[in-house]
Amino acid sequence: MDERSDLDRRIVQLRSAGALKEAILAEPLGNGRVGCNICQRRCRISEGGVGYCRTIVNYEGVLYTTIYGVISSAAADPIEKKPVFHYKPGSRCFSIGTLGCNFRCVFCQNWEIAYADAVESSGGYCRTGVTPEVLVRMAKDNACQGIAWTYNEPSIWLNYTLDCAKLCKSECLYTVYVTNGYATPEGLDLIGPYLDVYRVDLKSMDDHFYKELIKVPSVQGVLDVAIRAQVEWGMHVECVTNIIPTWNDSEDNLKKTARWIADNLGIDTPWHVTRFFPYGELSHLPQTPPATLEAAVKIGKDAGLKFVYLGNMETATGENTYCPKCGNLVVRRMRYTTEVVGLDAEGRCSVDGEGLNIKM
Ligand code: SF4
Ligand SMILES: [Zn+2]
Repeated sequence: MDERSDLDRRIVQLRSAGALKEAILAEPLGNGRVGCNICQRRCRISEGGVGYCRTIVNYEGVLYTTIYGVISSAAADPIEKKPVFHYKPGSRCFSIGTLGCNFRCVFCQNWEIAYADAVESSGGYCRTGVTPEVLVRMAKDNACQGIAWTYNEPSIWLNYTLDCAKLCKSECLYTVYVTNGYATPEGLDLIGPYLDVYRVDLKSMDDHFYKELIKVPSVQGVLDVAIRAQVEWGMHVECVTNIIPTWNDSEDNLKKTARWIADNLGIDTPWHVTRFFPYGELSHLPQTPPATLEAAVKIGKDAGLKFVYLGNMETATGENTYCPKCGNLVVRRMRYTTEVVGLDAEGRCSVDGEGLNIKM
Protein backbone atom coordinates (compact mmCIF):
# COMPACT_ATOMS: atom_id res chain seq x y z
CA MET A 1 0.00 0.00 0.00
CA ASP A 2 1.44 3.44 -0.90
CA GLU A 3 2.03 6.27 1.55
CA ARG A 4 -0.90 8.33 0.35
CA SER A 5 -3.46 5.58 0.92
CA ASP A 6 -1.99 5.03 4.39
CA LEU A 7 -2.75 8.67 5.14
CA ASP A 8 -6.25 8.38 3.66
CA ARG A 9 -6.96 5.43 5.90
CA ARG A 10 -5.56 7.18 8.96
CA ILE A 11 -7.65 10.30 8.27
CA VAL A 12 -10.79 8.15 8.24
CA GLN A 13 -9.74 6.58 11.55
CA LEU A 14 -8.99 9.93 13.19
CA ARG A 15 -12.25 11.40 11.97
CA SER A 16 -14.33 8.55 13.31
CA ALA A 17 -12.52 8.82 16.69
CA GLY A 18 -13.42 12.52 16.85
CA ALA A 19 -9.69 13.36 16.92
CA LEU A 20 -9.58 15.26 13.60
CA LYS A 21 -10.54 18.94 13.47
CA GLU A 22 -9.62 21.64 11.03
CA ALA A 23 -6.71 23.48 12.68
CA ILE A 24 -7.11 27.06 13.75
CA LEU A 25 -4.57 29.74 12.79
CA ALA A 26 -3.85 28.05 9.47
CA GLU A 27 -2.61 30.29 6.66
CA PRO A 28 -2.85 29.13 3.02
CA LEU A 29 0.42 29.82 1.21
CA GLY A 30 -0.48 28.63 -2.31
CA ASN A 31 0.24 25.41 -4.18
CA GLY A 32 -1.36 23.35 -1.40
CA ARG A 33 1.10 24.57 1.23
CA VAL A 34 -0.32 25.87 4.48
CA GLY A 35 1.37 27.69 7.38
CA CYS A 36 0.56 26.79 10.96
CA ASN A 37 0.65 29.74 13.37
CA ILE A 38 -0.20 27.91 16.56
CA CYS A 39 3.35 27.97 17.89
CA GLN A 40 6.47 29.94 17.15
CA ARG A 41 7.91 27.22 14.92
CA ARG A 42 5.40 28.49 12.34
CA CYS A 43 5.73 25.35 10.23
CA ARG A 44 4.99 25.61 6.52
CA ILE A 45 3.50 22.28 5.61
CA SER A 46 3.18 20.84 2.11
CA GLU A 47 0.29 18.65 1.07
CA GLY A 48 0.54 15.28 2.79
CA GLY A 49 3.13 16.69 5.22
CA VAL A 50 3.16 16.89 8.99
CA GLY A 51 4.25 19.71 11.34
CA TYR A 52 7.26 19.55 13.64
CA CYS A 53 5.07 18.54 16.61
CA ARG A 54 3.73 15.53 14.65
CA THR A 55 0.13 16.46 15.51
CA ILE A 56 -0.82 18.73 12.58
CA VAL A 57 -1.26 17.31 9.10
CA ASN A 58 -1.89 18.93 5.74
CA TYR A 59 -4.53 16.79 4.08
CA GLU A 60 -5.65 17.90 0.64
CA GLY A 61 -4.48 21.46 1.27
CA VAL A 62 -6.20 21.86 4.65
CA LEU A 63 -4.48 21.68 8.04
CA TYR A 64 -5.98 19.39 10.66
CA THR A 65 -5.13 18.73 14.26
CA THR A 66 -5.10 15.01 15.00
CA ILE A 67 -5.26 15.16 18.83
CA TYR A 68 -8.68 16.62 19.56
CA GLY A 69 -9.96 14.76 22.62
CA VAL A 70 -6.98 12.36 22.60
CA ILE A 71 -5.72 11.83 26.15
CA SER A 72 -2.43 10.04 26.87
CA SER A 73 -2.32 10.66 30.61
CA ALA A 74 -4.70 11.86 33.32
CA ALA A 75 -4.53 12.33 37.09
CA ALA A 76 -6.30 14.28 39.82
CA ASP A 77 -3.41 16.21 41.37
CA PRO A 78 -2.85 18.92 43.93
CA ILE A 79 -2.18 22.15 42.02
CA GLU A 80 1.11 22.32 43.94
CA LYS A 81 2.38 19.41 41.82
CA LYS A 82 2.43 21.54 38.63
CA PRO A 83 4.14 23.38 40.52
CA VAL A 84 1.74 26.28 41.13
CA PHE A 85 1.89 27.66 44.68
CA HIS A 86 0.01 30.96 44.60
CA TYR A 87 -3.25 30.00 42.94
CA LYS A 88 -5.95 28.32 45.00
CA PRO A 89 -3.45 26.63 47.34
CA GLY A 90 -4.44 23.13 48.37
CA SER A 91 -6.96 22.71 45.52
CA ARG A 92 -7.09 19.71 43.20
CA CYS A 93 -6.86 20.00 39.45
CA PHE A 94 -7.58 17.41 36.84
CA SER A 95 -4.33 17.11 34.88
CA ILE A 96 -4.24 15.76 31.35
CA GLY A 97 -1.82 15.46 28.48
CA THR A 98 -1.92 14.27 24.88
CA LEU A 99 0.72 13.36 22.27
CA GLY A 100 3.40 15.42 20.54
CA CYS A 101 5.48 18.47 21.37
CA ASN A 102 6.95 21.47 19.58
CA PHE A 103 10.20 21.12 21.58
CA ARG A 104 12.70 18.30 21.40
CA CYS A 105 14.40 18.57 24.78
CA VAL A 106 17.16 15.99 24.77
CA PHE A 107 16.54 15.35 28.49
CA CYS A 108 12.73 14.96 28.20
CA GLN A 109 11.33 12.51 30.74
CA ASN A 110 7.97 12.38 28.96
CA TRP A 111 9.51 11.50 25.59
CA GLU A 112 7.17 8.57 25.06
CA ILE A 113 4.22 10.92 24.65
CA ALA A 114 6.12 14.06 23.63
CA TYR A 115 8.00 12.41 20.75
CA ALA A 116 5.00 10.34 19.61
CA ASP A 117 3.70 10.73 16.07
CA ALA A 118 -0.01 11.43 16.53
CA VAL A 119 -0.60 11.49 12.79
CA GLU A 120 0.68 7.95 12.43
CA SER A 121 -0.95 6.47 15.52
CA SER A 122 -2.72 7.48 18.73
CA GLY A 123 -1.01 4.58 20.48
CA GLY A 124 -2.73 1.76 22.32
CA TYR A 125 -2.54 3.71 25.59
CA CYS A 126 -4.51 6.80 24.51
CA ARG A 127 -8.15 7.40 25.19
CA THR A 128 -9.97 9.13 22.35
CA GLY A 129 -13.31 10.92 22.16
CA VAL A 130 -12.83 12.89 25.37
CA THR A 131 -15.00 15.84 24.41
CA PRO A 132 -14.84 19.03 26.49
CA GLU A 133 -18.10 17.96 28.15
CA VAL A 134 -16.64 14.56 29.07
CA LEU A 135 -13.48 16.20 30.40
CA VAL A 136 -15.43 18.61 32.62
CA ARG A 137 -17.45 15.68 33.95
CA MET A 138 -14.24 13.73 34.71
CA ALA A 139 -12.81 16.72 36.59
CA LYS A 140 -15.93 17.13 38.66
CA ASP A 141 -16.27 13.40 39.34
CA ASN A 142 -12.71 13.52 40.70
CA ALA A 143 -13.56 16.43 43.01
CA CYS A 144 -11.30 18.84 41.12
CA GLN A 145 -11.76 22.61 41.06
CA GLY A 146 -9.81 23.10 37.87
CA ILE A 147 -8.16 21.54 34.83
CA ALA A 148 -4.45 21.63 34.00
CA TRP A 149 -3.04 20.80 30.57
CA THR A 150 0.37 19.37 31.28
CA TYR A 151 2.71 16.35 30.67
CA ASN A 152 3.31 17.49 27.09
CA GLU A 153 3.05 20.96 25.56
CA PRO A 154 -0.56 22.25 25.74
CA SER A 155 -0.24 25.14 23.29
CA ILE A 156 0.02 22.74 20.32
CA TRP A 157 -3.35 21.32 21.46
CA LEU A 158 -5.02 24.68 20.90
CA ASN A 159 -8.23 23.55 19.19
CA TYR A 160 -9.05 21.27 22.09
CA THR A 161 -7.74 23.31 25.04
CA LEU A 162 -9.58 26.37 23.75
CA ASP A 163 -12.94 24.58 23.55
CA CYS A 164 -12.34 23.03 26.98
CA ALA A 165 -11.23 26.28 28.59
CA LYS A 166 -14.34 28.07 27.31
CA LEU A 167 -16.53 25.37 28.82
CA CYS A 168 -14.56 25.47 32.09
CA LYS A 169 -15.44 29.14 32.49
CA SER A 170 -19.16 28.43 32.32
CA GLU A 171 -18.70 25.41 34.63
CA CYS A 172 -16.75 27.37 37.31
CA LEU A 173 -13.53 25.40 36.86
CA TYR A 174 -10.18 27.16 36.75
CA THR A 175 -7.72 26.51 33.91
CA VAL A 176 -3.95 26.02 33.90
CA TYR A 177 -1.37 25.77 31.11
CA VAL A 178 1.89 24.10 32.13
CA THR A 179 3.84 25.32 29.15
CA ASN A 180 7.22 25.72 27.53
CA GLY A 181 6.02 29.18 26.54
CA TYR A 182 6.42 28.82 22.77
CA ALA A 183 2.86 29.64 21.69
CA THR A 184 2.55 32.47 19.19
CA PRO A 185 1.08 35.75 20.46
CA GLU A 186 -2.00 35.11 18.29
CA GLY A 187 -2.36 31.59 19.70
CA LEU A 188 -2.16 32.91 23.23
CA ASP A 189 -4.65 35.66 22.41
CA LEU A 190 -7.28 33.10 21.39
CA ILE A 191 -7.18 31.28 24.72
CA GLY A 192 -6.19 34.31 26.81
CA PRO A 193 -9.71 35.17 27.98
CA TYR A 194 -10.24 31.64 29.31
CA LEU A 195 -6.91 30.78 30.91
CA ASP A 196 -6.31 31.53 34.60
CA VAL A 197 -2.79 30.25 35.21
CA TYR A 198 0.31 30.29 33.01
CA ARG A 199 3.02 28.08 34.51
CA VAL A 200 5.96 28.65 32.22
CA ASP A 201 9.44 27.14 32.00
CA LEU A 202 12.27 29.66 31.82
CA LYS A 203 14.90 27.09 30.99
CA SER A 204 17.72 29.55 30.46
CA MET A 205 18.41 33.14 29.44
CA ASP A 206 21.05 31.81 27.08
CA ASP A 207 20.08 31.15 23.46
CA HIS A 208 22.86 28.53 23.25
CA PHE A 209 20.87 26.38 25.71
CA TYR A 210 17.71 26.59 23.61
CA LYS A 211 19.61 25.95 20.39
CA GLU A 212 21.66 22.99 21.59
CA LEU A 213 19.26 21.17 23.90
CA ILE A 214 15.85 22.05 22.45
CA LYS A 215 16.42 22.95 18.79
CA VAL A 216 14.83 26.37 19.20
CA PRO A 217 16.79 29.45 18.07
CA SER A 218 16.18 31.80 20.98
CA VAL A 219 14.52 32.28 24.36
CA GLN A 220 13.19 35.72 23.43
CA GLY A 221 9.84 34.52 22.09
CA VAL A 222 9.21 32.63 25.33
CA LEU A 223 9.87 35.78 27.35
CA ASP A 224 7.67 38.01 25.19
CA VAL A 225 4.68 35.66 25.37
CA ALA A 226 5.03 35.26 29.16
CA ILE A 227 4.76 39.03 29.56
CA ARG A 228 1.78 39.02 27.24
CA ALA A 229 0.04 36.34 29.33
CA GLN A 230 0.37 38.47 32.41
CA VAL A 231 -0.06 42.00 31.04
CA GLU A 232 -2.60 41.52 28.25
CA TRP A 233 -4.60 38.71 29.77
CA GLY A 234 -4.10 39.07 33.50
CA MET A 235 -3.13 35.43 33.94
CA HIS A 236 -1.49 34.35 37.14
CA VAL A 237 2.09 33.54 36.08
CA GLU A 238 4.60 31.29 37.86
CA CYS A 239 8.05 30.41 36.47
CA VAL A 240 10.14 27.26 36.76
CA THR A 241 13.84 26.80 36.10
CA ASN A 242 15.09 23.23 36.21
CA ILE A 243 18.76 23.70 37.00
CA ILE A 244 20.95 21.46 34.86
CA PRO A 245 24.62 21.18 35.89
CA THR A 246 26.98 22.78 33.33
CA TRP A 247 24.11 24.02 31.16
CA ASN A 248 22.16 26.70 33.04
CA ASP A 249 23.60 26.64 36.56
CA SER A 250 26.08 29.50 36.25
CA GLU A 251 25.67 32.39 38.65
CA ASP A 252 25.41 34.73 35.69
CA ASN A 253 22.56 32.82 34.06
CA LEU A 254 20.61 32.46 37.30
CA LYS A 255 21.06 36.15 38.06
CA LYS A 256 19.82 37.06 34.58
CA THR A 257 16.77 34.81 35.00
CA ALA A 258 15.88 36.21 38.42
CA ARG A 259 16.40 39.77 37.25
CA TRP A 260 14.29 39.22 34.17
CA ILE A 261 11.41 37.91 36.26
CA ALA A 262 11.69 40.77 38.74
CA ASP A 263 11.90 43.45 36.05
CA ASN A 264 9.26 42.08 33.67
CA LEU A 265 6.75 40.01 35.64
CA GLY A 266 7.28 41.64 39.01
CA ILE A 267 8.87 40.75 42.32
CA ASP A 268 5.64 39.06 43.48
CA THR A 269 6.00 36.38 40.77
CA PRO A 270 6.83 32.95 42.22
CA TRP A 271 10.04 31.38 40.88
CA HIS A 272 10.55 27.64 41.35
CA VAL A 273 14.11 26.40 41.04
CA THR A 274 14.05 22.65 40.71
CA ARG A 275 16.52 19.80 40.89
CA PHE A 276 17.48 18.12 37.63
CA PHE A 277 17.55 14.32 37.41
CA PRO A 278 19.87 12.88 34.75
CA TYR A 279 17.93 11.54 31.79
CA GLY A 280 18.12 10.85 28.07
CA GLU A 281 21.10 12.45 26.35
CA LEU A 282 22.03 14.17 29.62
CA SER A 283 22.26 10.91 31.59
CA HIS A 284 25.97 11.49 32.15
CA LEU A 285 25.36 14.63 34.24
CA PRO A 286 24.93 14.55 38.02
CA GLN A 287 21.77 15.60 39.84
CA THR A 288 21.78 19.27 40.75
CA PRO A 289 23.75 19.63 43.97
CA PRO A 290 21.67 21.01 46.87
CA ALA A 291 24.22 23.83 47.29
CA THR A 292 23.50 25.04 43.72
CA LEU A 293 19.77 25.09 44.40
CA GLU A 294 20.26 26.94 47.66
CA ALA A 295 22.50 29.44 45.88
CA ALA A 296 19.77 29.93 43.25
CA VAL A 297 17.23 30.70 45.98
CA LYS A 298 19.58 33.33 47.39
CA ILE A 299 20.15 34.80 43.92
CA GLY A 300 16.38 35.06 43.46
CA LYS A 301 15.92 36.78 46.80
CA ASP A 302 18.86 39.13 46.16
CA ALA A 303 17.17 40.12 42.87
CA GLY A 304 14.16 41.16 44.95
CA LEU A 305 11.91 38.17 44.26
CA LYS A 306 9.68 37.61 47.27
CA PHE A 307 8.75 34.02 46.59
CA VAL A 308 11.46 31.60 45.51
CA TYR A 309 10.85 27.89 46.01
CA LEU A 310 13.05 24.85 45.94
CA GLY A 311 11.58 21.94 44.04
CA ASN A 312 12.21 18.20 43.42
CA MET A 313 14.13 18.09 46.68
CA GLU A 314 12.93 17.41 50.16
CA THR A 315 13.64 20.29 52.50
CA ALA A 316 12.06 21.33 55.79
CA THR A 317 10.96 24.78 54.62
CA GLY A 318 11.90 25.22 50.94
CA GLU A 319 8.32 24.96 49.71
CA ASN A 320 6.63 26.99 52.44
CA THR A 321 5.31 30.48 51.83
CA TYR A 322 6.26 33.15 54.35
CA CYS A 323 5.02 36.71 54.48
CA PRO A 324 7.98 38.77 53.23
CA LYS A 325 7.00 41.63 55.53
CA CYS A 326 6.51 39.98 58.92
CA GLY A 327 7.89 36.46 58.38
CA ASN A 328 4.57 34.78 59.24
CA LEU A 329 4.25 31.25 57.84
CA VAL A 330 1.19 31.50 55.60
CA VAL A 331 1.22 28.19 53.66
CA ARG A 332 2.96 25.04 54.84
CA ARG A 333 3.83 22.48 52.16
CA MET A 334 5.38 19.08 52.49
CA ARG A 335 5.26 16.36 49.82
CA TYR A 336 2.11 17.75 48.21
CA THR A 337 0.35 18.17 51.52
CA THR A 338 -0.66 21.79 51.73
CA GLU A 339 -1.93 23.58 54.80
CA VAL A 340 -3.08 27.16 54.62
CA VAL A 341 -2.18 28.46 58.06
CA GLY A 342 -1.83 32.22 57.86
CA LEU A 343 -3.97 33.71 55.10
CA ASP A 344 -7.15 35.74 55.18
CA ALA A 345 -9.99 35.09 52.73
CA GLU A 346 -8.34 37.35 50.13
CA GLY A 347 -4.99 35.54 50.27
CA ARG A 348 -3.30 38.22 52.39
CA CYS A 349 -1.10 37.67 55.42
CA SER A 350 -3.40 37.16 58.40
CA VAL A 351 -1.03 39.10 60.69
CA ASP A 352 -0.51 42.34 58.81
CA GLY A 353 -2.69 42.13 55.70
CA GLU A 354 0.32 42.11 53.36
CA GLY A 355 -0.55 41.21 49.74
CA LEU A 356 1.19 37.98 48.68
CA ASN A 357 0.00 37.55 45.09
CA ILE A 358 -2.05 34.55 46.21
CA LYS A 359 -5.41 33.96 44.54
CA MET A 360 -7.84 32.06 46.75
S1 SF4 B 1 1.85 23.63 16.46
FE1 SF4 B 1 3.93 24.46 16.12
S2 SF4 B 1 5.19 22.65 15.71
FE2 SF4 B 1 3.05 22.01 15.44
S3 SF4 B 1 2.63 22.28 13.26
FE3 SF4 B 1 1.99 24.17 14.30
S4 SF4 B 1 3.77 25.53 14.16
FE4 SF4 B 1 4.52 23.44 13.74
ZN1 LIG C 1 2.75 39.47 57.31
